[in-house]
Amino acid sequence: MQPYHGISASDGIAIGPAFVWRKSARRVDGRKRRRGSAREELAQLESAIESTGRELGALREQLLQKLGPDQASILDAQLLILEDEDFLTEVRAGIDAEGLSAAASFARAMAEALIPLNLSGDGLFQERMSDFRDLEQRVLRALAGEPDPTPELDEPHVLIASQLTPSETAGLDISKVLGFCLEEGGTTSHVAIMARSLGVPAVVGLRGATRNIPSGTSCAVDGTLGVVHVDPTLETLHRFEARIRRRRKVEEQLLNLKDYPAETPDGRKIVLSVNVDLPFEIDLALESGARGIGLLRTEYFYFQSTNIPGEDEQVAAYTRVIERARGESVIFRALDVGGDKLISSMGGYREYNPFLGLRGTRFLLSNPELLRTQLRALYRSSSAGPMKIMFPMITGVEELRALNVHGREVREELTKEGHTFDAELEVGIMIETPSAVALAPELAADCDFFSIGTNDLTQYVLAVDRGNPKVAHLYRSQHPAVLRAIRDTVKAAHDNDIWVGLCGEMGSNPIFAVLLVGLGIDELSTHAAAVPAIKKVIRTIPYDQARAWADEALSLSTSDEVDAFLKARAHERLRDFLDMD
Ligand code: PEP
Ligand code: MG
Repeated sequence: MQPYHGISASDGIAIGPAFVWRKSARRVDGRKRRRGSAREELAQLESAIESTGRELGALREQLLQKLGPDQASILDAQLLILEDEDFLTEVRAGIDAEGLSAAASFARAMAEALIPLNLSGDGLFQERMSDFRDLEQRVLRALAGEPDPTPELDEPHVLIASQLTPSETAGLDISKVLGFCLEEGGTTSHVAIMARSLGVPAVVGLRGATRNIPSGTSCAVDGTLGVVHVDPTLETLHRFEARIRRRRKVEEQLLNLKDYPAETPDGRKIVLSVNVDLPFEIDLALESGARGIGLLRTEYFYFQSTNIPGEDEQVAAYTRVIERARGESVIFRALDVGGDKLISSMGGYREYNPFLGLRGTRFLLSNPELLRTQLRALYRSSSAGPMKIMFPMITGVEELRALNVHGREVREELTKEGHTFDAELEVGIMIETPSAVALAPELAADCDFFSIGTNDLTQYVLAVDRGNPKVAHLYRSQHPAVLRAIRDTVKAAHDNDIWVGLCGEMGSNPIFAVLLVGLGIDELSTHAAAVPAIKKVIRTIPYDQARAWADEALSLSTSDEVDAFLKARAHERLRDFLDMD
C-alpha cells in the first residue's frame, strides 16, 4: 500500500496494529417538534445535562490525575456551557414556547453559539469549536439514551480516527496508544498538544484513513515526517526498527546536554528558548534545558473563558506564568487573533480572507480598550519577574508608533495610580509580513527586538495559505524568497543594534536551525521537544561553517535546491544524531 502523507503533529516513531475507530455523529433537525409534553421534554433535558455534567466531571478528574491541572482545565469550557443560565434559558424556551424537541432546541442553541467561532479563520478558534461539538454530541447522545462510545483498547495499538475530541482524548488509556493517526485536526488540537507532551507520535490530516485502513493491519507511524506506512514491507519495518533503536540511544545522549549552553564550537552563543501555547508546556520547556520562553501565545487566556478576561484576572494569569518560569524570561505576545470572532460578537461582519483582514496588531489597534487592558495587565505583571512584550503581525511603521503611544500612556497611567512595573521592559515586534521586512530598518529604530514569525512570513511571502492542505506542498520555509527575507531582517536588526530571534516552526527543524544560526539569528524559540537536538546541532557546527551553509543556500534559486543542499551537508555532519535515512 502507498504510504499516507499527512502533517506531523507529534514527533516520534511507532509500529503496531491499527485500531480504527469509526464514530457516527448524531445529527438533529433544529426544527423537529416535540412528541411529548413540554414538561416531559424539559425533564429529559435536565437529566441529560446532569448526566453529561457527571461524565465530564469524571473525565476531568481522570485528566487531573494523569496530566495535571492545566490539561484538566481543557474540559472547563464545556462544563461552563452546561452551567450557562442564558444558554440554558434559550434551550428551555425553544421547548416550552416554540414546541421543539429537547434535542432540536439544544442543537439549535448550540448552532447559534457556534456562529461567531465558525466565522473565524483562526486555527485556535476552530479548535474551540470542536469543544462545543464534543459537548453537543454528548448531550444529544444522553438525550437518545446512548452510551459514551470512547474506544477501549486492551492492547497497545495505533489509534486511527477521523478526529478525537478533548473528552474522548481524556477518556483514553494513553498507555495503550502507540501513535495517533487522524483525518482531521490541526497541530494545535488538544490531542496533538497532549501527544507532544506525552511523547506519543501523531500524524494529522490523513484523508480517508478510517475508510481505507482495516483494523488490525500493521502500521508504521512516522510522526516526525508525517507519514504512515500501512502494512509495511519487511524492509520498511527493519528501517523503522533501526530508527527506533537509534532514536533511543540519541535521546539518552541528548539529555546529557541539558545543562550545557547553546554555543557553537567557535564561541557564538545562541539564546535557545521555547514556544508555549498552554502554561503546562512551561514545565516541559524548563526540563528540556531551554533558556526562557521565546513566545508565549496569550490567545489561550482569552479562549479559556466566554468573556474577555478583565485586567486583574489577566495579571493573576500572567503572574502565574512568570512564577512558573522560575526566573527565566518570558516573551508575552499580545493577543493575535483573526478578528472575526470578537468582531462578530460586537455586531461585525464576515471577512472573506481573514488572514488578510483585521488580524494581529490591526485588531488590537481597532480595539484600543482591549489592547490597553492587556498592556496594563502585562506591565503590572512585570514586577513578578523577567518578561518582555511582543506585538504580532506588524505591517508598517505607523502601527508600531501607535502601539508605542499606547504603551507610553499606559505606563504613565500606572505610575500615577501607584503601580510598580519594570520601566526598562523590552518591547519587540514580530516580523511576519513582507512589508515589515521591507521596513525593518525603520521599525528597528522604534523597538527593542525582532522575532521572525516564519509560519506567517512563509504564507505571506509565498502567497500560500498556511492551513490549506491543497497548497501544503507549496508552503516551504526554505524557499529562497523566505531565506532572503530572513537575511534582510537580520541585517536591519544588527545595523540598528537590536537582537533578532525566530519563533516560527522552522526553528524546530535541526537542519534549518544551522542555516538560521548561519544567517545571524541571535535567539531561536522552538518546541520543547526539539530543544535537545537543536542544542546539539548548535554545539556541533562552528558558526563559520553555518555562515558558509547560509551563503550557499542564499545563492540557490529554488526550495528543492536549498533542500538538497542542506540535506547533503547534514548527511555529512549531523547524520549520527539526526533521524535521517
Ligand atoms: C509565526 O507566525 O511564525 C508565529 C510564531 O506565530 P503564529 O504561529 O502564532 O502565527
Ligand atoms: Mg504568526
